[in-house]
Amino acid sequence: MKNWFLILCVFSIWSCNTPESNVQPNERSDRTKLMISNMKLARDPHTWSKPNQARVVHLDWNAKVDFTTKTIQAVATYDIDNITDTSAIVLDAKGLRISSVQVDGKEVAYQLSEEKQFIGSALSIPIDSASKKISIAYATTDAAEALLWVDGEHPFLFTQSQAILGRTWIPCQDSPGVRITYNATVEVPSDLMALMSAENPTVKSADGKYTFKMDQPIPAYLIALAVGDIAFKPIGATTGVYAQPDVIDLAASEFSEMQQMVDAAEKLYGDYVWGRYDVLVLPAAFPFGGMENPKLTFATPTILAGDKSLVSLVAHELAHSWSGNLVTNATWNDFWLNEGFTVYFEQRIMEAVYGRERSEMLAQLARQDLDATLLELKEADMNADTRLKLALEERSPDDGMTDIAYNKGYFFLRLIEETTGREKFDAFLKEYFTSHAFQVMETESFLAYLRKNLLTPEQESAINVQDWVYGEGIPSNIPIVNTQKFILVDNVRTNWEAGKIQANNIGWAKWSYQERVHFVSNLSPAIHAGKMQELDDAFEISSTGNNEVLFVWLLKAIDRKYTPAYGKLREFLVTVGRRKFVKPLYEELVRTDQTAIAQKIYQVARPHYHAVTVGSVDALLASTSKSN
Ligand SMILES: [Zn+2]
Repeated sequence: MKNWFLILCVFSIWSCNTPESNVQPNERSDRTKLMISNMKLARDPHTWSKPNQARVVHLDWNAKVDFTTKTIQAVATYDIDNITDTSAIVLDAKGLRISSVQVDGKEVAYQLSEEKQFIGSALSIPIDSASKKISIAYATTDAAEALLWVDGEHPFLFTQSQAILGRTWIPCQDSPGVRITYNATVEVPSDLMALMSAENPTVKSADGKYTFKMDQPIPAYLIALAVGDIAFKPIGATTGVYAQPDVIDLAASEFSEMQQMVDAAEKLYGDYVWGRYDVLVLPAAFPFGGMENPKLTFATPTILAGDKSLVSLVAHELAHSWSGNLVTNATWNDFWLNEGFTVYFEQRIMEAVYGRERSEMLAQLARQDLDATLLELKEADMNADTRLKLALEERSPDDGMTDIAYNKGYFFLRLIEETTGREKFDAFLKEYFTSHAFQVMETESFLAYLRKNLLTPEQESAINVQDWVYGEGIPSNIPIVNTQKFILVDNVRTNWEAGKIQANNIGWAKWSYQERVHFVSNLSPAIHAGKMQELDDAFEISSTGNNEVLFVWLLKAIDRKYTPAYGKLREFLVTVGRRKFVKPLYEELVRTDQTAIAQKIYQVARPHYHAVTVGSVDALLASTSKSN
């Protein structure tokens, strides 16, 4: 793969050597903002905006959330920086109904281009060198893919903007490199609470009006809003949970170790700079495990297992406060810089708080997921997507949200750690986060930084950096994960499968969820429905409260047509919208010629899913109904 050399040579990074000494804190933050707003950004194929010409720097968002019409009516006012004295500033917009645009208080004629697949429309607003503010009055429509309106006694609304859905509810320069600060005023029904990725209330207001302030610059994909019947419970001095009242106590006890996680993270890679760290538990329709919205992680309730076994998700989202939110991937082609670093950091937090044995089991499961993804992409003839550096031009950035970015990225960083030694690697990472805070990072800039500050040429060639980043599949020097406990589980499984021991003697009750997942996901193909029944009789796996175990169990149930679990399968798919679970279950139904069952369930479930999940499953079931 020699052509990759070319790409490696053309990168350029900005340098910002502003001396920081003798600068007062306020001046420093102004100067930091200025530095950030003037940084030259990489070309991003998923935005219409031209931030190197004219850039938004601060947003005042004034919005009313209307649950009857399921729309948000808003005015977005931006402070702008016309860097090159250009005649128009360009924003991204998708499915928005724009009613008027003003520049410095005067209405102007704007242009909204025709909508293009994935990236939507370019909103061009005429400006001149003296223009200071642009103001857009608009309403969201049914096409607002970021929003999910959840019906119920108390309705709920949440946003999920990553990767490029921010533009479906706020016109914005929707590129990860463009950072803005924001203030917001949000009006909601008076029995509901509003929260954002900002400084948040802890009690409901009397009139349904809330004000928010985010004075640290963040990219548009990290602007978030949730509205619902929400309560708050503190955990530690700077940590707490938000959830609907029927879940708040469970959430608070499940996440009781959150403060320890924050302390462990700070000890590893430097100060947590965002003030408070809170977690909001959303309705089950939330399409992701978690979303690292600054100050306020959004999380799926599927991690509330009752025994704190799935809290690694909180460690993951917390780690994003450094990797992703502080040092951000320049484009979605560099997504592994957000996620690979975060999985590595998550593992280190888990190791610090719960011990190496637990983090190694998680690493082994990550390896199994990675292997499965590699096989899947190979079978789909999509080997190019197994590179860390992606090429997602003309495609949805969601296509890059695979285990490659997360787990191949993780193992690459772990290999660097094992090659240089942990002490050196930790010092390097800490400095990396500190010296690039509030900046963006391209893969090439990172590699240059890595060479300059950590790796010797010998180490670089031993690691085979080039192959890890730009090559397909996984290089043979992938670190070996050592999990004694999984070896014991494998022995037990082999003995049970050979009929040497009874299901009752498996030791299931004493196992962690990781051991259970390992046991179930490695069941041999010879284990048919009758043998699954034996396990179910012994351990009631079909009704487990641990959704990771349930998920791998349901996958096996589909494959072996173990129909006693199908009631649970249906219930799970209709209530849970988390794509990581939902998509593979439908895929497995289709793969095993049970498409009719998949379609029947999907018909009921689809209205409850977020656009992110719908997008994935629609494609699957539409393509099968055509080909069948
Ligand atoms: Zn993540």
